[in-house]
Amino acid sequence: MRISQALIDEIVAHSRDDLPNECCGLVGGRDGEATSVHRARNAAATWLRYELHPTDQLRIMNRIEEDGEELVGIYHSHTKSPAEPSQTDINLAEGWPGMVQLICSLEHDDAPVVRGWNLDDKSVEEVELDVG
Ligand SMILES: [Zn+2]
Repeated sequence: MRISQALIDEIVAHSRDDLPNECCGLVGGRDGEATSVHRARNAAATWLRYELHPTDQLRIMNRIEEDGEELVGIYHSHTKSPAEPSQTDINLAEGWPGMVQLICSLEHDDAPVVRGWNLDDKSVEEVELDVG
């Protein structure tokens, strides 16, 4: 998936802003390219997991549609672990078929890592991010 450095930076900034909790949000795009990042509240408000706030989810999905984009991805942060999906993430992904799952790891403060995953059908497949 193509994504600009500015959008990656926004995901990292959101991840840092929501510490100590996990953050979460949605990604809009067109033709296989991510074109917008939208912050949502983590209704679970914990560093253990994320739960997209339902009001935010609806608002963002409407916004993406109004902007003529499609929902292409969902992102969340890992505050103390690598940017790899947990079993919880794999289970949650069932509700988001076809989405690229972006995970931002803040495990190493000075070196945040964002990776993309396809978690359809309970399998784990990395999605290469073409950043530029
Ligand atoms: Zn996770």
